[in-house]
Amino acid sequence: MNSWNDQARWEALCTGEACPICSRREPLDVVAKLEASWVTMQEAAPVPGYACLVSQIHAIELHDLPEPASSAFMRDARRVSRALTAVTGAVKLNYEIHGNSLPYLHMHFFPRYRGDQFEGQPIDPRLVAQPVYGPGEFRRIRDAFLLALDSPAGGPTQAPK
Ligand SMILES: [Zn+2]
Repeated sequence: MNSWNDQARWEALCTGEACPICSRREPLDVVAKLEASWVTMQEAAPVPGYACLVSQIHAIELHDLPEPASSAFMRDARRVSRALTAVTGAVKLNYEIHGNSLPYLHMHFFPRYRGDQFEGQPIDPRLVAQPVYGPGEFRRIRDAFLLALDSPAGGPTQAPK
């Protein structure tokens, strides 16, 4: 059942009255704070290099963000996409904004690889076999990503081995 089928709960999530992000003041697993958003990454990811961009302003739809924050959010998204491309060797990034469980504005970044489990279709996180990272690989990709985030040119083309 989707969160939106419990109307009272859905409204409390949307208004912020019962918003888990606002009540904690930030999301879980934050690895970086950018201009208008946080970046989160976790080892239990749907695909290596998965990251999520979470607005710092409680908003549901893109048009709910004030214009300066929405421009900053897109600048942050471009910064993340450049850095992820540089460090993961992904053949393509997939960007997804759903909010069907947690309506708070967040954007998923799924690096896609030749031969990945979902080639030819979107990632389905429910079908992912864990772990997706080899030993030490999460830390290596995350650290290279954080370096690349701070590099105007996007950093090295591959994470150091
Ligand atoms: Zn909130």
